[in-house]
Amino acid sequence: MAECGKVFLVGAGPGDPDLLTVAAKRLIETADAIVYDRLISPHILDCARADCEKIFVGKEPEHSSHTQADINSVLVDCAGRHHCIVRLKGGDPYVFGRGGEEATHLAKNGIEFEVIPGVTSAIAAPAAADIPLTYRGYASQFTVVTGHEDPEKAESDINWDVLAHTPGTLVFLMGMKNIGLIVSRLVTAGLAESTPAAVVEHGTLPNQREVAGTLGTIEALVNAEGITNPAVIVIGSVVSCRELLRPNGAPSKQHAPLAGKTVCVTRAREQASSLKEGLEALGAHVVEIPLIRFEGLEASPEVVAALDAIDSYDWIVFDSVNGVKYFLSALEMPDASSGNPADGETEAVAPRLGDPFGNLPAKIAAVGPATKKALEEAGVGEVLMPERFTTDDLLAELLGILNEGDRVLIVSSDKARTAMRDGLVAKNIVADLVPFYRNIAALEDREKLTAALREGSIDAITFTCSSAVVNFADLIGDARDLLEGVALYSIGPVTTATLAERGFTCAGEADNARIPDLVTCVKQGLQTRRDEVSA
Ligand code: SAH
Repeated sequence: MAECGKVFLVGAGPGDPDLLTVAAKRLIETADAIVYDRLISPHILDCARADCEKIFVGKEPEHSSHTQADINSVLVDCAGRHHCIVRLKGGDPYVFGRGGEEATHLAKNGIEFEVIPGVTSAIAAPAAADIPLTYRGYASQFTVVTGHEDPEKAESDINWDVLAHTPGTLVFLMGMKNIGLIVSRLVTAGLAESTPAAVVEHGTLPNQREVAGTLGTIEALVNAEGITNPAVIVIGSVVSCRELLRPNGAPSKQHAPLAGKTVCVTRAREQASSLKEGLEALGAHVVEIPLIRFEGLEASPEVVAALDAIDSYDWIVFDSVNGVKYFLSALEMPDASSGNPADGETEAVAPRLGDPFGNLPAKIAAVGPATKKALEEAGVGEVLMPERFTTDDLLAELLGILNEGDRVLIVSSDKARTAMRDGLVAKNIVADLVPFYRNIAALEDREKLTAALREGSIDAITFTCSSAVVNFADLIGDARDLLEGVALYSIGPVTTATLAERGFTCAGEADNARIPDLVTCVKQGLQTRRDEVSA
């Protein structure tokens, strides 16, 4: 028999990605295939490898659902094709959800498996609502029960008389459809209607909701709020501890300013980290949908010509970190600049390696601080940078310094604006606008974006350059109605103008065209929206 993979039955916890175990996270990040259920948050699947095969086997309310037999065969099939398979289940894999049956099936088929316990919603959802399942003097045991069983079934596996007389806390999972019957069975069996009861929906998630009352009132409260699955029902005097644990009425979990908000970052993946981290530090969930990719043009004739003439320039201007990156990699090309031997020898190459800018006679300018920093890291001692970080401001400064006939190299992308070059040329300055990299539309994530928008799970989208806006317009096509209620934020005036040109409404623009300013702008914008909604 061909070598067979190993299946990890992994508990994904109650929903909050922070409640994944270390083992679960590591396995999700490395799995070749993930077989997952409906309650697995897309945010958790986000950490899977890009080439990981993700197989949904959950039950969709309106679609035909996968039977347990289907799921079992999917697992066996995956084990035949992959090395590391994660069977990802909500909460703990062995608390309901038929994890035990899946493991038995694997064992029977001789497939190696391992269980990775998870944080069960039976405990985590009440905890997230500040309800401890045990508390000295209130409850010294708890019982977790399925609420899924058809209460009309003649031979119930649940002994309601025993349950009603079991001391401590009762927790029902999968009980929302049957809540009325659960309550009436317990009351008929002798549990007082005045027993405290609560329901926690989407426990630990940003959209968590709770209602609390008594056995007699809980069904009406649930109906009034429209609370549905996934939710746990907690019955017992511990429910009243909630008030003890919330002396000011506020939940113990302090929400960060952007908690519960999902922000889509459209920057190229290799550039997105600081924006992502900044937003995450404020509690936002970040979805990365890169709308741009870059590709160096190190060998293009324009770049080769510019490098040949590199010593003739008085100034070299960089308008982005990418420009610096691809300029440096062009300098490192075997035939770059100095020498460029015509006879095909390539050894006269690397005088600038290590100190790439060391021998350049030109002075160096950058539009903004991130670019300046990249240049400094590459060893440039002095970088001219305007006070406001826009191309127009840098142009104004350069015009104040340069003389007619001076030569300027503008290191840019193939989609660069020509404003800088035109402004210089108009003053009889020689300006070469040279694309050192290509800016390519990355539209692979169209499905991911439209699905998230359709779900209504995106609150804001950030744009850090005009090209991203242009690509976004292509990507969204005529599905613009999906953007209702979604705030679009821009890094600076040029990007904002492109948003307007393409018919989008910009909800806010960063103060000074830097990433931290954009983070602040999103924070202020979304908080204002939240206040408006709750007012
Ligand atoms: N193995 C899972 C339970 C699977 S049964 C666990 O250990 O948590 C599915 C039920 O779990 C749902 O019907 C609901 O009752 C409960 N559930 C799962 N996630 C939940 C959440 N975030 N908040 C409240 N209840 C949840």
